[in-house]
This record gives sequence, structure tokens and C-alpha cells, in this order.
Amino acid sequence: MLQAIGRWLFRLYLTPLAAVSWGVAAAGAAIAKLAGWSRTPFAIDVGDRLFAKGSIVMPALITSFEDTYQHPEDGPGWSEQQIPKLWATCRQLAEKMGCQPPDAIHLSVEPGDCCAWSSKKDDGPVRRHIALSLLDLRLLSHDEARAVIAHEIAHVGFNHLQREEVDYKHEYLMGAVAGALPFPLSTPVRVIGAIHAAGMRLGAHDAEKEADRKAAEVVGGNHAARALERSYLHGPVLARVFKLVLERALEGPRAPERLAEAAARVYSSFDFKTLRARAEVRAEVPGEQHPALGERKAAAEAEASRAGVGRGASFIDAYPELLVCEELLTKTYFPDTPVHQRSDASQLRRKALAARLKTRAP
Ligand SMILES: [Zn+2]
Repeated sequence: MLQAIGRWLFRLYLTPLAAVSWGVAAAGAAIAKLAGWSRTPFAIDVGDRLFAKGSIVMPALITSFEDTYQHPEDGPGWSEQQIPKLWATCRQLAEKMGCQPPDAIHLSVEPGDCCAWSSKKDDGPVRRHIALSLLDLRLLSHDEARAVIAHEIAHVGFNHLQREEVDYKHEYLMGAVAGALPFPLSTPVRVIGAIHAAGMRLGAHDAEKEADRKAAEVVGGNHAARALERSYLHGPVLARVFKLVLERALEGPRAPERLAEAAARVYSSFDFKTLRARAEVRAEVPGEQHPALGERKAAAEAEASRAGVGRGASFIDAYPELLVCEELLTKTYFPDTPVHQRSDASQLRRKALAARLKTRAP
């Protein structure tokens, strides 16, 4: 809010200054033309003077209105044919939140990879991307995972990156104009800059809060709060477990069939008391963009609870299509393994199955 006020005050202040500099440039060009010093067409001469090296007012005013958002990270993601059910979920969640669905869904087997961004190159269209960590989501229920997915969709659906870019651009422009204008002309820009900066400080968590709120609204405050809590507490431990599992797998004779599954199993088999306790303490420290866990959970719980769609099932069981994706992703970590051998996981599963069949046998 304060940023928007600062932005418009900045533009309002620059407009008469830009008009004066246009007048000066036009007068200069006219004199040059009449005196026969310049043969360039009048309009080009005026433009050259307005945008000459060192001039600031007109370029800053135009840049303020311009859409300068660029983000080179693109990529097609996984197709509708590969993950039809996940695509359907994303479309449905976006529709419920009243925003555009993502243009690309990326998947990762590593922890902490749930994120969102909008790519844009030059004059190309904006493309919305979400990335989901199969390892993180494997440890959540179907409904909790929907809260995480909805949160990421909200980031791109409500243009959070572009909004942030507008703020940073104006912070830069205001600083540059204040530095270039002589005193006392620079003073109002410094005041406007301070208003804008205060807005940025106060609104530092706005995007995360909006994404949390939208997710809790459509998925249910109960699931959203639980997803937040689990993500915060799993996160730091999972990072270590994944590293360990990957290192062991790279050294060992057999590669796991699915890396996230292998890491999730190790994670679930141990207590990690100390690491978890440390994660709990860290969760209560607000981040640069995120409020502290307690505040986020309280906000989610303020939204209505919902029964959910998953009936307590785990996320991965609800999306069997993701098993194939995970196998393909896992193979990219072991390019030198000539035959992708059966994993420990599947060996264990077969052993368990054999044991069950034996006990059932008469
Ligand atoms: Zn977020």
C-alpha cells in the first residue's frame, strides 16, 4: 500500500520536472536548428538531449511505468500426459483461488524444492512455473500436500514476483534520482523514497501471507496449518538425510529405484531428536520473506477447517503417476550405473511380501 503511494508520488513529482527538461531540450534543439549547428531532425535531437548520458528525470519516469520484469529460468516441466492427475489438481486449485493455473509443473526428488517463479524473456509472454519436491510431499498427507501446491500456485497466480520486481525497481530509481538531482530538488524524492522503503519493510511478508491465506481458504485451515508445521520441522532434517542417502547411493553397489522414497524411509525410521529440536527453535524466527511458523499457523487456523479430499491418504498414494517421474529423476543422479538395478526399497518390499504370503499360507 505504502509502496503504491510512494510510486505515484514519485511519478507525480517527476512529471513537471520531466516537462521542464523537455522544454529545455526542445529549446536547445530549436536553437541548434535555427543556428544551423545541427542537421538531425528536430524530434531526434530533442530525444537525444532528453536521454543524453547523465540525464535522469525522463528515463526514470519512463522506466517507472515500463514493465521491466525478466526471468530467464524457463523450461517445459512435466506434460499433461505424464502427470494428468497432478495437472488436474493444479487447475482445480487455481480455479478455486481465482487465479491463472501454472504453465509448467517441475518436479524434484530433493528436499526444500517447493517454489514458484514466473519466467519472461524480452517481449515474450510471462510463463508461470511451480516446482514441487517429491521428497517433501511424500511426508505429507494428500490434503496437506494440496495446501503446499496451492501456496505455490498462488505465488505465480497472483504475480508475486512481478510485484516484488516493481518494488525493487522503484527502490533503485528513487535512490538514483535522489542522488542525481541537486539540493533542494532531491529532498522530496528522499522523503518519497523513505515512504516507499517503509512500505517495503512493512510488506516484506505480504506475498507469503497472501499465498498462505489463499491456500488455507481452498484446502482448509486445518490442513494448511498442519502442512506448514510439518514442512518447517521436516525441512532441516530432510536436507541432511537426503545428502546422506545420496552419498551412500553413489558409493554403494546399487542405486535406489526412487531417491525420494529411499530418503523418506530413512527419515521416518529414526527420531532425529536433536535436529528436530533445533528446527523447532529456528521455526520461530521470522525469515526475510516468511513470518515465523507460529504466526503462519495461527493465520491458517483462522480459516475454516475442511474435511478434505484425501481421507487421510498419503500424497504419493494419491498420485501413482509420480512414481514413474521419480524413477526417471532418480536415474539422472546415477548416469554411470549401466543397469539400473533393483533398489533396496523394492528388495525390502519383496521380502515383506514374501513373509506375509508365508504367514498366510496354511
Ligand atoms: Zn511461499
